[in-house]
Parts: sequence; structure tokens; C-alpha cells
Amino acid sequence: MDSPAATAQLDLGTDDAAHEVLRRVFGYASFRGEQHAIVSHLVDGGDALVLMPTGGGKSLCYQVPALVRPGTGVVVSPLIALMQDQVDALAALGVQAGFLNSSQNQDERREVERRYAAGELDLLYLAPERLRLESTGRLLDRGKIALFAIDEAHCVSQWGHDFRPDYLELSVLHQRWPDVPRIALTATATEKTREEIVERLDLGTARRFVAGFDRPNIQYRIEPKNRPDKQLLDFITAEHPGDAGIVYCLSRNSVDKTAAMLNENGIAAVPYHAGLDQRTRAANQSRFLREDGLIVVATIAFGMGIDKPDVRFVAHLDLPKSVEGYYQETGRAGRDGLPSTAWMVYGLSDVVQQRKLIEGSEGDAAHRRQLQLHLDAMLALCETVSCRRTRLLAYFGQPGEACGNCDTCLTPPETWDGTVAAQKLLSAVLRLKRERGQSYGAGHIIDILLGKQNPKVLQYDHHELSVFGIGTDLRDTEWRGVVRQLLAQGLLAVHGDYGVLSITEAGNEVLFEGRRVPMRREPERAPRPSRSSRGAKAAVAELPAADVPVFERLRQWRASTAKEQGVPAYVVFHDATLREIAARKPGSLSELGAVGGVGDNKLAKYGEQVLAALAEES
Ligand code: ADP
Ligand code: ZN
Repeated sequence: MDSPAATAQLDLGTDDAAHEVLRRVFGYASFRGEQHAIVSHLVDGGDALVLMPTGGGKSLCYQVPALVRPGTGVVVSPLIALMQDQVDALAALGVQAGFLNSSQNQDERREVERRYAAGELDLLYLAPERLRLESTGRLLDRGKIALFAIDEAHCVSQWGHDFRPDYLELSVLHQRWPDVPRIALTATATEKTREEIVERLDLGTARRFVAGFDRPNIQYRIEPKNRPDKQLLDFITAEHPGDAGIVYCLSRNSVDKTAAMLNENGIAAVPYHAGLDQRTRAANQSRFLREDGLIVVATIAFGMGIDKPDVRFVAHLDLPKSVEGYYQETGRAGRDGLPSTAWMVYGLSDVVQQRKLIEGSEGDAAHRRQLQLHLDAMLALCETVSCRRTRLLAYFGQPGEACGNCDTCLTPPETWDGTVAAQKLLSAVLRLKRERGQSYGAGHIIDILLGKQNPKVLQYDHHELSVFGIGTDLRDTEWRGVVRQLLAQGLLAVHGDYGVLSITEAGNEVLFEGRRVPMRREPERAPRPSRSSRGAKAAVAELPAADVPVFERLRQWRASTAKEQGVPAYVVFHDATLREIAARKPGSLSELGAVGGVGDNKLAKYGEQVLAALAEES
């Protein structure tokens, strides 16, 4: 057998073997951050819990030990739709990998089972529901297991946002195969989720590796939502023309409408949500992974673990339910480490809508309270006047300093003393309640403050209230900002289908105990960050102009090669690798082999073609 795994199991020390695999199979000169410690720990048979941000390099943490240790690394992953691409990417490196999930027919499954039992597989990917089947247990016993890797381990947590009941079964791994080392990995975990992973997966004695969660190449920006379609168009045209991106919407309907709107404006986009039939969904996901510069408009059903390394932006047109969700979704941008943007618009209607979802959600009062806490944290992030990244990292328990690469750092928002405005708005809410026994949504309250004699005001004699017209010093959009901030600060609450407002305990302190209310000023329109910090065409932007034609030539070669083989372009080479080749212009196979991401297998397979493409006259 000439699998690279065999090469690695020479009589080298395990450290040497790990480096050898890293260099020859993956084409990388050195481990990153904690990778080396994690790999050594696993190779030596230890259990590990690994928390690393998206793009941090989690896959190598189990792939290298799986190749170094005798036997097959068994990877449990909920990402069934991605297994084929993962296996293809490994095959391109010369690694023997297979998967078992519900998408296969019986023949395909039998063949993978045969290869596993015969000891031919370095890695076997399994859908979690497989592990419930006794037949899977028997199958695993027929081969040798090098390790168990539990990917997206936060799926075991009911507190988190991606809960999968099948993950609860994963504790059987340790009971049935107590001597096989396990590694659980996730990119999102608060302290609470982390503890839940340890407890439910029985990882009490596992060594914990917590990497920094920062994604410095992602620029975070949150703007007030006015005309979301136009804002999105402006954002893409100005900053990310021709780039691949993900646009998240809450409802299927707005996904469809937004995708159509982009296409009408000449921006190629495909929709993705659970209401589309399986075929269309798979086709759209596959196009997104394979084509350069396509946009996918999606509900959160899309994208967990999307491996595409060159997603240049993630846009949210609706408010995510939690900071964890937001961080994971935005984390799909810039896995290759190149500049990328996380951009969101949010408005009052989002708060009303989310609140409605919480009230209508199944589960008990405690569960709803939990959802509300998630929402509160998200609102606080939106309305913060300090660095967004610092707040995000703090949410995951990591201290940090102002980052210089988020909207609040780049254009610090003005703050003002909003106490009087808050008092006006709160007292309008209170008077309607006390004097009339009525509750209203923000729109009507603001109309009263602005002194608008519209039919609804006249019908209910609201122009006779003492608060009528006391708020003409602020514009309508500014009042909406005030309401949002009062909600974010917990001074107001919103309920029901119509989003009616009520005062909280803390809100009463503003009216009766002189509590101050600092606020951030609503910008007329959101400022654009400086050009240098933009992600636009990042892959090309940082290359010297002279190298750009070479890079483009290599990209064309990659596109046609990927198409021929029916794999995503990044499976052939990542952008980062092509950039390095374009910059260094290697003249021989051995020089090419020294480029990051060019391992033995890819060198043998593509080396001559790449050198030929380089030699071509432009
Ligand atoms: P994660 O699963 O944590 O999101 P990946 O495993 O997909 O991250 O790795 C992210 C990117 O970093 C990939 O393009 C991968 O090839 C690259 N990478 C990982 N480890 C290294 C390393 N030691 N040296 C160079 N590149 C690496
Ligand atoms: Zn910042």
C-alpha cells in the first residue's frame, strides 16, 4: 500500500513522524499555534478538547495523528453534505478517506465498509446517527480505530444553538472503546457550552486546548437598517464586486426575494433554505463551492462548517438569535486569513420579530428566558459604543484591546446624554398605560412624540395627551434609535405580534430615580471604512501589480483543472498557495514543492502543469 500513512509509520520518533506528515502530505513547513501540542498529545494516546476559531486549522489536529497512529481515524461530523468534498480534498493529498452517511446507496456503503475492515482507510467520516446502529459498532470492531474525532462538538449542547440529539449518543464511544483517544473540536463555545461538552461527552480528563478566538482578518460592522436592499447593493458594489459571499436572512421568503433582487442587479446569487427541495439545495451549495465569486443568500440552514476558504464577506440582513450564532456565521468569512468583512444591518423590526419568535417558541419559561438572554447579548453588541471585537471576545471569556478593524474603532460613534429623550419616550409609554390602559408599538408612540395628527392619533384622541408633540427635537429615525437602545439597555421591553412596548423595572429608575441614559448617535448614513482595510479583491490586492497576470493565469488553470475533476477549485490549490506561487515564480519542481500547500501528491500530480502555466508568455 502506498498511502502516505504508511510512509509516516516509519520508525521515526512520533514528533518526527508528525512533522514528516505535515510536510509531505499537506505541504506545510510548520504547525500553527497549538496544533503541535494537540497532535503530540493525541499521537501519545491522550484525549483532547480543542477550541479554535474557524480557519484556525482544526482539521490537521486530527488528520495528522490519524495518519501517524496505526489504524483509521474515525471522524464524527454532522456535515453530511460536505463529506464528499472533504474526502475529495484528502484524496487530492493522497490520503485514503471514505464516508458513511444516508446519501449513499448500498454498494457505495459496502465498498467503504470493505476498505475500512481491510485497513485501507486513513480516515473514515461518519454521520452521528450511524453510531446509534449496532451494525456500525460491529463494523468498527472489524478494523483498527486510530482515534475518534468529534467535529462541531458544540452540537451536543442544549444551551448552544446547533443542538443535535444524536450527539448525545456519542458518550458510547468512550464506554465501548475506552482505549481509543478522542478529540472533540469546536469553533464556538462559551464557558457554559464548553462545560456541557465536557460533561456530555465524558471528557473530564481530556486536556483542554483553548486557542485565541480572534479573527483579525475579519472586519466587523453593524449599521442601522433603513433600506436593506439598497444598503446591501451598495456594500457589495463598493467593497466586494466579484467576490464570493454569504447573505443571511431570517425567512425563506426574504431569502428568495433578496437573491432575485441581486440577480436583477447583475450580481450572481443563488438561494438556499429548507423550503427548497433537496436537489436544488445540493445544486446551489455545490455551485457556491465550485464557482468563483458566487453569492449564496441563505437562512441559517446553510453553512455550518462550510469549508470554502475564500468567502470574502458575510452579510446579515436580519438579526441573529445569539452572539454565538453571529460569531459562527460571520466566521465563515476569510478562512484563508485574507481580509474579509462581516457586515450587518439591524433595526427595530428585528427586535420585535425576534421577541415574537421567543414568545411563540416551544419549551418552558426557563427556556424562553434563556432565549431572551441570548437576544439581549446580541442587542448589546449592536448598540455598543466600544470596540465590537473586544465585546465579542469578552463574550467568549477572552480579554482584548480595541482592535482598529471594526466600525466602532474606525469611526468611533458619538455619544450623547439621552436621558431626557429616554424620559420623554418612557413617559409616553407610561401615560398611555396609566391614563388609557393602552399599549402600542414604537411607530405609534413616536408619532405621538413627533406630534403627528394622523388618523390613528385622532381616532383615539392621543393629540390630547400631555406628551403629544414633545419630541420634535429628534427625527423619526433618531427616535427609532432611542427605542432600540432602550431595548438594548433593558429599560423597555417589547411583546406580542404588534411589538407593543412596556417599561421595565430599570426603566422606572430613569423616570423616577434620575438614572442617566448614555446613547450612541444615529449616523446620517454609515461611514465607509478606509480603502486599505477593505476586503475587495483581497486575493489580488496584496500582490504586486506585476504578479497579477500570473496569478490570474494560475487561477484559470485551476478553474479548468477543478472542473475536469469535478471538485471545488480550492481542492486543487487554495488562493493563498496560488498567490505564493505567483509571487515566487518557482523554476523547478523542488522550488515549487517548497511553497506552502504543495505536498508530495499535488507536486507529482500538478507540478509540471503549474510550471508550464508559469512559463507561458502572457
Ligand atoms: P478550521 O477547521 O479550524 O476552520 P481548517 O482546518 O479548515 O480550519 O484550516 C484553515 C486553513 O488553514 C486551511 O486553508 C488550512 O489548509 C490552513 N492551515 C491549517 N494549518 C496550517 C499550517 N500548519 N500551516 C499552513 N496552513 C495551515
Ligand atoms: Zn474594534
